[in-house]
Amino acid sequence: LVDHVSKEVRRKIMASVRTTGTGPEIKIRRELHRLGYRFRLHRKDLPGSPDIVFVSRRKAIFVHGCFWHGHDCKWGKLPKSRRAYWAKKIAGNRARDMRTNEELMCGGWDVLTVWQCDIRDMASALERISSFLEQVIKPETRNL
Ligand SMILES: [Zn+2]
Repeated sequence: LVDHVSKEVRRKIMASVRTTGTGPEIKIRRELHRLGYRFRLHRKDLPGSPDIVFVSRRKAIFVHGCFWHGHDCKWGKLPKSRRAYWAKKIAGNRARDMRTNEELMCGGWDVLTVWQCDIRDMASALERISSFLEQVIKPETRNL
């Protein structure tokens, strides 16, 4: 019985520890699914393995935490202690994000970044995401 309980506890812990899918990302996925959108998650074969991928529309969404990706908002501010360490780390993340976006766009993908703070107003975030998804960008105007 003890063994059974610990297995059950372990199962619950394993289920709660996710390697991918943060809270904000799961919320957005749920809402998009409800709106009828179908998508793939974390396509490892694409640069930066985007969080939400709409293959036939050739569109990719990143859901970024404001702190880790250095958003210019109140949640993106550097902590007071170990400032140099964090500044360097987050600058590195930002540089990687920009590279990833460029690689995706060069491959013909449209990219949208949704910030964690954006989804505090889920309705307007969804509006923005929907218009991004419905927008058809002609290849010849893509780089304008
Ligand atoms: Zn933010």
